Amino acid sequence: MDEDRSIEYRQGQIPQELQHNVVITSVDYIYNLIRKTSLWPMMFGLACCAIEMICTAAGRYDLARFGMEVMRPSPRQSDLMIVSGTVTKKMLPQIVRIYNQMAEPRYVIAMGACAISGGPFKDGYNVVSGIDKYIPVDVYVPGCPPTPEALLHGVLKLREKIAKQSITQVSWYRKGSQDAIPVPVLGPDIFDPRRVPEIRKRTLAPRPDDDGSEATEGAQTVEDQSEA
Ligand code: SF4
Repeated sequence: MDEDRSIEYRQGQIPQELQHNVVITSVDYIYNLIRKTSLWPMMFGLACCAIEMICTAAGRYDLARFGMEVMRPSPRQSDLMIVSGTVTKKMLPQIVRIYNQMAEPRYVIAMGACAISGGPFKDGYNVVSGIDKYIPVDVYVPGCPPTPEALLHGVLKLREKIAKQSITQVSWYRKGSQDAIPVPVLGPDIFDPRRVPEIRKRTLAPRPDDDGSEATEGAQTVEDQSEA
């Protein structure tokens, strides 16, 4: 009711001859409308889910209806990463590196059980149990594989999310630079470089002997040698 009155009040300020030619709206609305109707996904797929993603772009499902007809081959031209398929530990550093190369505003859809949680390969020695442990995910599309309709639904949910953002609050217009996500390192196992001090502390800590006592003798010997 109040909103109707407000619209009437604002229309009252517009000359009669212009009332059918003038639209009053917010900057946020225009800004979000442009972004949400021109999402450019990045062109890459990881496993079987990628086939469903490719189907979504073909004639039957027609992703072009949403302004997304061209999948970009460069992260610098993309603002949507669709992680479609199994994320292996070997592939993960490349995914995080590509994510860092995308300009803000950027969004991520985790497509399929594998990208969300490791899926049927969760217990595999080589599989990451969820891409959201490494990069922020905006929309999850469950399924094994999700159908093209499910991916389209995920895209619509992302558009709803974008429509609610405000230019005054989004992180990429705040002062200061945003740190890139450290690229995970593939060693004997995958690890986050931010945790190196913690890992070093744990691996260098004295370990209990087989009989349960602390194995500090060696460390004492080294200290004794250095003191000597
Ligand atoms: S979720 Fe299922 S269909 Fe998708 S990549 Fe994993 S195993 Fe393949």
